[in-house]
Formats: sequence, C-alpha cells, structure tokens
Amino acid sequence: MTEKKKIAILGSTGSIGTQALEIAREQKDKIEIEVLTANSNADLLIAQAKEFTPNHVVIADESKYLQVKEALAVHDIKVFAGSKAIADIMEITSADTVLTAMVGYSGLLPTIKAIENKKRIALANKETLVVAGELITQLCAQNRVDLIPVDSEHSAIFQCLVGEDLNAIENIILTASGGPFRGKKRNDLAEVTKAQALKHPNWSMGAKITIDSATLMNKGLEVIEAKWLFGVKGANIKAVVHPQSIIHSMVEFTDGSIKAQMGLPDMKLPIHYAFFFPSRIQTDFKRLSFTEINTLTFEEPDPETFRNLGLAYEAMNKGGNMACILNAANEVAVDAFLNDKIKFLQIAELNERCMNSVSFIAKPTLDDYISTDAETRKVAASFL
Ligand code: NDP
Ligand code: MG
Repeated sequence: MTEKKKIAILGSTGSIGTQALEIAREQKDKIEIEVLTANSNADLLIAQAKEFTPNHVVIADESKYLQVKEALAVHDIKVFAGSKAIADIMEITSADTVLTAMVGYSGLLPTIKAIENKKRIALANKETLVVAGELITQLCAQNRVDLIPVDSEHSAIFQCLVGEDLNAIENIILTASGGPFRGKKRNDLAEVTKAQALKHPNWSMGAKITIDSATLMNKGLEVIEAKWLFGVKGANIKAVVHPQSIIHSMVEFTDGSIKAQMGLPDMKLPIHYAFFFPSRIQTDFKRLSFTEINTLTFEEPDPETFRNLGLAYEAMNKGGNMACILNAANEVAVDAFLNDKIKFLQIAELNERCMNSVSFIAKPTLDDYISTDAETRKVAASFL
C-alpha cells in the first residue's frame, strides 16, 4: 500500500476546508490529517479535531483557546492560539501537503512558512498570489516546492498543461459564471442588496469570494493568479463568461488548438486533484451528462459595469505592490458591504481610490507587502 498523504488544512472550518475534510473522510486509507486551523469557529474546529485527530490544532482567535484546549484535553492533540501560531506550526508539523483554505491576506505568512518548510502547497487562497505572486513563485523555485492550484479555473489550466512542458501557450482563457448579476448594467446594480449578491447561481462558497464573484473581482484576482501560476503575460490571459460553469477554463496553444477541462461545478474535484496529483483516484462524484446539460454558452464580460475586472488588469500591468493595494482595499470594501456600510457599486469605487492614493512601490520586499496591506486598510477605512 502507498503511504498516506499527510495533510494540513489551514481554514478547515470554511467552505473549502469542510469539503477537503469530506474527501479525507471518503479516502480514510489514503489521507491522514495532521493540522486543522480556524479563525474563531471553535465549535466546528473541536468537532473536526475529535473526528480526524490531527497532531496540531490552531485557533487564531485567542479568546477561544481555553475552550478548544479543554474540549480536546483527553485527546493527544496539541492546541495553539493566535495568527502567528498558524504560520509557526509549519515548522513543526510532519504534514507533506498544506491546503491553504484561509480567506484573504491572512493566508500569506502561513503559506510562506509552509513553502520555506518544503511543504507541497494545494493553493485555494488565491489572495496570497495576488498580493505577493513574484515572491511566492521565487520561494517555490528556491525551495523546489510544487504549488498545485485548487481554484477550479487554475486546476483546469494546470490539467490542460500536463504533458505540454515543451509547448508554448498562446492564450489562457478563464471562464467566469458571471455571478448573480450577469447581464445587468450599472443602473440596475445601484441598489442591489447583500442577500442578492450572496446568491451565487452555481457555487456555494464563503461570503467573501461570493461577493467577489458578484463584482467580478474574483475573476480579476484569478487573472493575476494565472499570471503567476503559469508565467503568461497579462495580454494573453482572457476571461469569457460561461454561465453553465461546465468548462472550468481553457488553454490555447500556438498551433491554434484549444484544450478545455470540464466537469460539474463541484470544488471537491479540484481539491481531490490537488491532493493526489499526478494520480487520479476513483470517486463516486456525480458524473457530467452532456445530453442533460444540452447547451454551453459564452459571452464577453462587461468591464464597464463590473469595474473590478478592469482594475485587476490595471494592477497586474502596473506590477509592484499595486495588486497588494487592490487586494487590501477590496477586503475592506467587501467587509464594509457585508456590514451595510457601503453600496454594491462603491466596492469598485473604493478599490480605485485606494489604487490612486496608496504609495506605489515598484520592487516590493515582504516587509513592503506587509506595510502596503496595513497602509491600504487605513486609507480605505478613512474613505468609508
Ligand atoms: P470561508 O470564509 O468559507 O472559510 C475561510 C476559512 O478561513 C475558515 O476556516 C475561517 O475560520 C478561516 N479564516 C478566516 N479568516 C481568518 C484569519 N484572519 N485567520 C485565520 N483563519 C481565518 O472561505 P472559502 O472556503 O470560501 O475560501 C477560502 C479560500 O479559498 C479563499 O481564498 C477563496 O478565494 C478560495 N476559493 C474558494 C472557493 C470556494 O468554492 N469556496 C473556490 C476557489 C477558491 P472561521 O470559520 O473560524 O471563520
Ligand atoms: Mg475560481
């Protein structure tokens, strides 16, 4: 029997984290859970730890430490608290693979620590590559660490590129569902509510990425993510709206041939692929029936209405810390929208104001990214 995969799940209580644990439950003889972490959902973290008995558990919210520690006292599980502990655990865990399923900028430092400790990265946390893509790709190369994308579009592209090492890519074509407001114009969006924005047509995901999907920021972040993962120029990364979410993305090669990866919209597929790559493991996931789906359609995205997509291209083309500024502004803006402090269209307005206001650094270091994130959050808060 082959050795079990030893997996750390950062953000185990979220949408990606819980689906990863479903896979661990289904593939018990192939997966061992080494680490589980959460921000503040102590009850779910405790239940998960009791079921999967990892060696280490971390809760970022220090006020929940005693609750988690006491609940797990009879088990042989070490419990830590605080954000820094999530990164520090990478130095002591015997996990070989780390699934980064935390949300936003909080994934950056733990991912860096995981790479430095030679862990294979199953990357869900796209914001890490948006904030510091150049640094992360350099660190992966230096440490000979593989970064396997979990984001469905990037998993699709990754799968299309298997066996194509010697061939040049002409274009990457990222598909986008279009979100709940596909086809709407700016006037239609002025008064949309949080509940409407949180209703994604095809995917059930955490709140932040669901809002990002509604504003098309998610596609913008994914364009930047693709640039770093696949080393393709911005001009060669296109987005196309494909409302059925069956084609997860495509690669066009220099001979004009296009490869697409398809499947039903289910994040367990790309998580599974990242865990077991280069193998494919038998599953009983629901199969795609072409005759049931019947029609696949495609549309141009509308960057005038969904301004965030254009802003992401601008940030990517500018380089330096600009995508870090956009990411931090967007995290503040989405949080403000979810807390009824701003309206839907103000999310992109706030992002653009921050891109025009925060100090630009052409060649940022890690410390620069950290200070850019902090500065942008302050500036964004002052605009609210
Ligand atoms: P969720 O909001 O559902 O889950 C986030 C997880 O991270 C939770 O475990 C949460 O803990 C934890 N967390 C949040 N903030 C912090 C913090 N500051 N410090 C430590 N832990 C924290 O998000 P998703 O699962 O939807 O997304 C996770 C990542 O995967 C995102 O980067 C997203 O873009 C990406 N992704 C998600 C997809 C999806 O289908 N959901 C698809 C493609 C990519 P707690 O529960 O305690 O709050
Ligand atoms: Mg995606």
